[in-house]
Amino acid sequence: MPKINVLPKQVAELIAAGEVVERPASVIKELVENSIDAKASNIMVEIQHGGISYIRITDDGCGISSEDVPKAFLRHATSKIISDRDLNSISTLGFRGEALAAVSSVSRAELFTKPHGETLGTHYKIEGGTETLCEEAGCPDGTTIIIRDIFYNTPARMKFLKKDVSEANAAAAVVDRIALSHPEIAFKFIRDGKQTLNTSGDGKVNGTVYSVLGREFSGTLIPVKGTLDKIEVEGLTCKPVSCRPTRNYQFVFLNGRLVRSGTVTAAAEQAYKNSAMIGKFPGFVLYLTVPFDTVDVNVHPAKTEVRFSDERRIFDAVYSAVKNAIVSGDTRPEVKLKPPSFNPFERLKKEEYTQQPIDKPTIAEKIYGTGLHNNAKPVLRDDSIPSFVNNYSTVGPRGEKVEATVQPQYPPTPVNTRETEIKEKIAVDITKEEGNEKPEIILIGEAFSTYIIVQMGSSVFMIDKHAAHERIIFNDLKKHITPAPQALLTPVTLNLDPEEYGAVISNTALLKDAGFEVEDFGNSSVRVFTVPSSLTKEDVEGLLSELAENLLKKSVAEVERLEDIYHTVACRSAIKAGNKLSPLEMKKLAERVLYSDDIMYCPHGRPVAFEIKRRELEKQFGRIQ
Ligand code: ADP
Ligand code: MG
Repeated sequence: MPKINVLPKQVAELIAAGEVVERPASVIKELVENSIDAKASNIMVEIQHGGISYIRITDDGCGISSEDVPKAFLRHATSKIISDRDLNSISTLGFRGEALAAVSSVSRAELFTKPHGETLGTHYKIEGGTETLCEEAGCPDGTTIIIRDIFYNTPARMKFLKKDVSEANAAAAVVDRIALSHPEIAFKFIRDGKQTLNTSGDGKVNGTVYSVLGREFSGTLIPVKGTLDKIEVEGLTCKPVSCRPTRNYQFVFLNGRLVRSGTVTAAAEQAYKNSAMIGKFPGFVLYLTVPFDTVDVNVHPAKTEVRFSDERRIFDAVYSAVKNAIVSGDTRPEVKLKPPSFNPFERLKKEEYTQQPIDKPTIAEKIYGTGLHNNAKPVLRDDSIPSFVNNYSTVGPRGEKVEATVQPQYPPTPVNTRETEIKEKIAVDITKEEGNEKPEIILIGEAFSTYIIVQMGSSVFMIDKHAAHERIIFNDLKKHITPAPQALLTPVTLNLDPEEYGAVISNTALLKDAGFEVEDFGNSSVRVFTVPSSLTKEDVEGLLSELAENLLKKSVAEVERLEDIYHTVACRSAIKAGNKLSPLEMKKLAERVLYSDDIMYCPHGRPVAFEIKRRELEKQFGRIQ
């Protein structure tokens, strides 16, 4: 029988250290968190060789008094909690009193520290857990701690370290995250003598995200802000169209602490449902503030995992904040053109390329106002007025207003020739939107029988007509603002395979909600009495087995199954690319899309419209620089 030994302190500490100190990055995390707890406003992290040979952290926090310095390196020594009751509402990042003990047991540590207001500070050294120096010393306010030769006394652990580059990258990632978590603290990171991060510490989330995550990502973000009960959710989240193939850009901070929370991530991702493409993930930086006593951070030694007392409420708070951000803050994706390959200004003098502003009103606009938009709009300008146009002058001899009497002959808008059911519906939809204050939409045309091109305000929009129509129908179905289901003249009887039949029969209530009145007809067959008004009778058969198939695949929540049905119906009923539309119909569709803010993505998450700003075009044509 093996004999039981109580391990010597040194060995026990090494084992404990393993939980906290895994690699240089984890040391940095612990030490920087100490600086934050010390209320520092400036924190500098410097590493050499991936932090394996050298880590230095300097802060301007409260410092440690000389008599407390040796204590700080003992296990279970902390200034942050006193009794077990404090564990129920932890407001600091640290509280376990382990980090300094653990780090100093596997490295050579050196400390300079001076509390504000003292004349002298302390210089302290401890190697492999053994104190080697403790003396008074002149030093600046705050604390500097240097960690050298991590794992020098534990070769087994040393072996697990990766190349310097990987360790340095991991360290950089930790500093990035901590810098994001505290926009009110200025962080610097210096890697082998080169500064690679510098945040301003001005407390602004936008600027911090820009410094840490770069311009490209920052450019995709919209602000999030919401409160539910006592849960505050703030931060930034990406536009649905900028979702990415990985979850790398998801950051969740809880009361200033970087955490991993399946609940928060799931809630944020759920908010993108039907807006983002399947298989893509939103990027976000979310700051949650919750009462300290509703969260348990003492679940894991590294304290990245947390437990909420009410996960459901956290989910709802995050979901609604992010959803609101997407609904209200999203803008249509903008097409950025490549800069022209030539520089038109190179060989020209300024006078030669300066142009008249192009929004000078045209003659027709002067006479009739700007309401006369049509694709046949005249493009004559003031300075090229042919004499016959002058007859339309709006100002009389004494400066009085004169109504123009002769109407120009614009080609009339073509009448709707192929009046299919679908098209009529587009027009019906539009009448609901009348009275809008938005700028008028001018139809330019259509490309590839697929993309409608219109002008609105100072932008040109390209609209995918199928995606747009599909989204319109989907939204209407969801909001229950579609006309009542249409009764089929003769009910359609369908034979389904037994599984599909089962799926349909057990979902008749759901199907009815979506406009399908279906009855069991025995022998694996059903009878369909009504279909959603957007569908035609021919669609019924194929559609019902498609629905059955989907119902079979997914045994998810009822709302989701219903959305799936809407989705399928919308896709079936929408006009397809290639279907011809008259100019009026195109314009109506464009109006429906651009005048409402909830038609951004098709239900599969593809964008419905792209915007090309006039500035962008003018840059491209060398009208502006
Ligand atoms: P914990 O952070 O869990 O309290 P640590 O071992 O990390 O445990 O630190 C022990 C104590 O040392 C802290 O409670 C704090 O009082 C003090 N301390 C550590 N780092 C700093 C610092 N940078 N500035 C001021 N005090 C510090
Ligand atoms: Mg600590």
